Amino acid sequence: MELEQKVKQTLKKINLNKKEKILVALSGGKDSAVTAHILKKFGFDIEGFHIDLGMGEYSKRCLVAVKKLCDNLGINLHIYNIKKEMGSSMCYIRSAIQTGQGKGLKNCAICGVIKKWIMNREARKLKVNKIATGHNLDDETQTFLMNILKGSPQLSANSGAITRNISDKKFITRIKPLFYTAEEDIKKYSKKMKLPVVYEKCPCLLDSYRKEVRHFTESLTKKEKENIMKNFDRLSDKIQKLKVEEKLNYCELCGEPSRKKICKMCQMVKR
Ligand code: AMP
Ligand code: ZN
Repeated sequence: MELEQKVKQTLKKINLNKKEKILVALSGGKDSAVTAHILKKFGFDIEGFHIDLGMGEYSKRCLVAVKKLCDNLGINLHIYNIKKEMGSSMCYIRSAIQTGQGKGLKNCAICGVIKKWIMNREARKLKVNKIATGHNLDDETQTFLMNILKGSPQLSANSGAITRNISDKKFITRIKPLFYTAEEDIKKYSKKMKLPVVYEKCPCLLDSYRKEVRHFTESLTKKEKENIMKNFDRLSDKIQKLKVEEKLNYCELCGEPSRKKICKMCQMVKR
């Protein structure tokens, strides 16, 4: 199958090893479900990790889907309940941030920082070697174009099918097995395999800039999107040079790896 071949090539490119334990970040959506399904099919040692964002019926549906997927795959599922662990739902935490320290920050930007902070910490506690997410060709094309349009291509320097330039014992490497796989193919595959998946988009997806860029990328053919990311790969060594070499520190407040003295998460929640 074409999609499986593409993922196989991606995994080869990043030298993923079958001895490694991989934690797949499962949102309840199609992309991460397909990521887990294929990694398992190829014989990798995986476990699931889901953050229950506490966002009403949507989150409940995601939790049901993720549990069913892990049951079907016969893998362990670790659930992080944000209400229990942090005291409130993602919606509440986000609006508190937007009325305080993080005025002007977009929903998805805040949510992304919080999810990454949780994932790294929990993955480290679980002693896994890598975290896999479901980011796909469309997501990555949008992010790359957005960084270029903002005039900051260096923001793409650490991105790719595997996180680069960061080797720190407290930082868990993240991989994106679907980096070169188009969203339309993932959708078809998840339907064909009848994976338990929530197809609706996150109700808080209000990032208008990404929406505009998505509008544009949706008008592109798959080949064109692939070409953009091929260019990204060609340019990425040069983009690296645009980056000022930064040393990873540990956040003075939470101890997580951070480029600044205080990590993005703690800057937002100002603990
Ligand atoms: P998104 O930023 O929502 O497009 O999600 C990108 C990737 O992050 C997904 O494919 C998942 O791998 C991971 N992810 C998103 N939401 C969650 C969640 N609630 N729990 C675990 N992983 C998630
Ligand atoms: Zn911190």
